[in-house]
Amino acid sequence: MVNNSAKEVRVRFAPSPTGDLHVGNIRTALFDWAYARHTGGKLIFRIEDTDRERVTDEYIARAIETLRWLGLQWDEGPEVGGQYGPYLQSQRLDIYTQWAQTFLKNGDAYNCYCSTEELEARREKQRELNQAPGYDGKCRSLSAAEIAEFEAQGRKPVIRMRMPDGETRFNDLIRGEVVFEHKYVPDFVLMRADGSPLYTLAVAVDDVLMKITHVLRGEDLLSSTPRQIRVYQAMNVKPEDYPLFAHLPFVMGQDNAKLSKRNGEVSIAWYREQGFLPEAICNYLALLGWSPGDDRENISMQELVELFTVERVNSSPARFDMKKLEAINGDKIRALTIEDFLSRALPFLLKDGVITGTENEIEVVKSALPIIQERIARMNEVTAMLKFLFVDQVEFEAESAQKISEEPSQHVIAKALEVLAGLNEWKHDQIEAKLRAALLDELGLKPRVAFGPVRIAVTGSHISPPLFESMELLGKDRSIARLKAAVR
Ligand code: GLU
Repeated sequence: MVNNSAKEVRVRFAPSPTGDLHVGNIRTALFDWAYARHTGGKLIFRIEDTDRERVTDEYIARAIETLRWLGLQWDEGPEVGGQYGPYLQSQRLDIYTQWAQTFLKNGDAYNCYCSTEELEARREKQRELNQAPGYDGKCRSLSAAEIAEFEAQGRKPVIRMRMPDGETRFNDLIRGEVVFEHKYVPDFVLMRADGSPLYTLAVAVDDVLMKITHVLRGEDLLSSTPRQIRVYQAMNVKPEDYPLFAHLPFVMGQDNAKLSKRNGEVSIAWYREQGFLPEAICNYLALLGWSPGDDRENISMQELVELFTVERVNSSPARFDMKKLEAINGDKIRALTIEDFLSRALPFLLKDGVITGTENEIEVVKSALPIIQERIARMNEVTAMLKFLFVDQVEFEAESAQKISEEPSQHVIAKALEVLAGLNEWKHDQIEAKLRAALLDELGLKPRVAFGPVRIAVTGSHISPPLFESMELLGKDRSIARLKAAVR
């Protein structure tokens, strides 16, 4: 196939949002975006919503919002426009109808009157005889009389594409030469009896009309490629003008099964709620099937654009690894400036009702953030980490309450109270020195036994930011009051 590199690169991302975009969709979108940016080409965002029962306005709006949140800007598409619009397939139905009619007229397609029951019965027979499944060509060359008979019976035809004998060969940019023998690619439906188009028709017509040069998409669509190429031929597109295909490897779950809800493929909205940063999601997804050429794992969007080439995309499946995503998220959190960290933390604290958003509260949060920045891997952890600073009284979980009511906790807390009451300079290093001398040196306790009860008394939880810093932030009066309250 002729190389398209002389033309302006036009890549499209063309989801059918039948739910929230998920990991697989976003990985495709990211690669489309990176390829467009790397080549200085255009990213076209097209919504494939011909199935309006499953693709709703709400899902479309969410898909748009998700891409924006991730920073994957498109050059043509919804909200942006462009000279090849509209970019919602539901607004292009006339175009598909016209092309289907042209194919009928030129003999590339034909009306097929077979009913669902008849097709099913024949498929059953194919199964029995161990024949390749698919349409058997029954209506390929109906006589005028047969057509009249079907019409008289009130049958409404579908429009079916005629697949010629032979094979389709194309050079996939990732998988190399791919060959499909047409005996395995039966004549396929372009338009349903109700006049609605099928995916294969709409996608191929739009890729041609929108002058798409590169189709980077999931490997699950590989087998529909020969049908799409058949549509290009029927549209009289010259082979050198066909888009080039690059089928991205599957994303597998940890258990080696194709990614699904069960093993981690949940919507990007879920990752967002959990406090994964958009730059971490993009960084991690970039590594799912692509590599920058060395083993670095922390890459910026800028570096992705500079380094992204299709040659570096792997053809073998990539495995989704939540632990690695979390590690990258932690790295990205640590790299934030305090201002940036603050602006990303506030929505979680507000949503969880930890703060109401007063200036004073925001100041407290800001002063507390440096001590938790090293300790969290997801932004939603800020709630559990900082809650103790904003409550009048800490609430203990049953287990913690039990623990501090027993010995040696009671003794530890009493001792802590005794040495801290006289401490004038309420700084974390002073607090630490006092507590170490009293609890470790004097009482001879291990750090966990010594500091655990103090931590629970002061913060309500055994998970918290570093203890001494937490006590400094909380202030002397409140710290002492909480220690007192913990004494039976
Ligand atoms: N709309 C199709 C889907 O979401 C993808 C179209 C394509 O990339 O060719 O499955």
